[in-house]
Amino acid sequence: MTILLGCIADDYTGATDLANTLVRQGMRTVQLFGPPPPGMIVPEAEAVVVALKSRTNPPAEAIAQSLAALEWLQGAGAEQFFFKYCSTFDSTPQGNIGPVAEALLDALKQDFTIACPAFPENGRTICYGYLFVGAQLLSESGMQDHPLTPMTDSSLVRLLAAQTRHDVGLVDHRTVAAGPDQVKAAFAALRAEGKYHAIVDALNDGDLLTIGSACADLKLITGGSGMALGLPENFRRAGKLSLDAVADQLPAVPGPAAVLSGSCSQATLAQVARMGQSRPSFQLDAIKLAAGEDQVGAALNWAIEQLPHGPPLIYASAAPEDVRAAQDRLGRAQAGELLEAAMAGIAKGLVAAGVRRLVVAGGETSGAVVQVLGVTGIRIGPQIDPGVPWTTTLGQPELALALKSGNFGAEDFFLKALDCAP
Ligand code: ADP
Repeated sequence: MTILLGCIADDYTGATDLANTLVRQGMRTVQLFGPPPPGMIVPEAEAVVVALKSRTNPPAEAIAQSLAALEWLQGAGAEQFFFKYCSTFDSTPQGNIGPVAEALLDALKQDFTIACPAFPENGRTICYGYLFVGAQLLSESGMQDHPLTPMTDSSLVRLLAAQTRHDVGLVDHRTVAAGPDQVKAAFAALRAEGKYHAIVDALNDGDLLTIGSACADLKLITGGSGMALGLPENFRRAGKLSLDAVADQLPAVPGPAAVLSGSCSQATLAQVARMGQSRPSFQLDAIKLAAGEDQVGAALNWAIEQLPHGPPLIYASAAPEDVRAAQDRLGRAQAGELLEAAMAGIAKGLVAAGVRRLVVAGGETSGAVVQVLGVTGIRIGPQIDPGVPWTTTLGQPELALALKSGNFGAEDFFLKALDCAP
């Protein structure tokens, strides 16, 4: 197969968010969980996103995983490469955004790329190189308290420079507003100064289209999912992508459905409450699980009884004070892992009982479910809410999956997803 755009994403639900953007711009897109195992048949697509779990790994591991993904994408004929990370630039002075970007540049024998995490639709904008979340600077947005990647500086130039061997420059909004030719000229000027990286300002989707157009000849682009908005048009202009492409078609996957929620993000808590008003639900309890109670078996028996009457909801999601209580008793990581393993076990049991459509809330939770089900890849379909599409698995058994990162989706997300399942 020959693909146009080869993407590497540093987490699973972020990869789906990127794939969703590409599909909406008319590129048929497949998401793979790591490079495909030998012998796996990857369906025809114009874009492939290799999803990794490398965001918070030691840099050397993140680099090795990213280079393996790059090698597979090069082998599949990709013409251009995109390294996708979070729109809040989640990283530390050790990495992994800078080290991975430079390893990819080296492997591609290139000396220049851009870094643009802007995602205006979700309030992430960049002005003079400073990243905003809504009206707040990144370092005042709550991200300064992130448990793994606290963001205490908002200057992307400083943040990236701390992680890279080479110098970092800035293309500010006055240049972006002047159009693609001026942005290209700014890239050339920074390159001539020996800068390997350019942070590029973006305040709205129009800016991202301008930047995308200016990136037509770059081998490697790095950014958030918003940055992918302007890339498909370059292929269309070059006659490589049809004008009327319908990229979001999925095969029908009939069968019972269920919702699993392991996210405690505010958006998900509201979605759990909303679905609970009209559908039966079962809450897992980390402390009882830790005490050895067979919550997986109990949840499964309960859910299988519910299936003939409609989709059940099983959730670990809990209010912050309950999460804190469980974490105080069990430890933060242990509580999380215990519940992720339970959710994975329940997903496996549900599929064995004939469930074919699963809505899963939570990034880590989705990762655990995908892993236990042995899913190697998904085809991306129509969007349910911004950033979250329905997908169907490659290989057998064919399942329909909606994998939602915690903070995504409107309050009626679960019910809406079930209504429009493929
Ligand atoms: P999000 O996308 O919202 O970050 P994740 O699934 O990535 O969701 O992360 C949520 C984490 O919280 C998981 O490790 C999950 O197992 C854990 N978790 C879920 N419910 C609870 C709870 N009630 N107490 C403690 N941890 C929980």
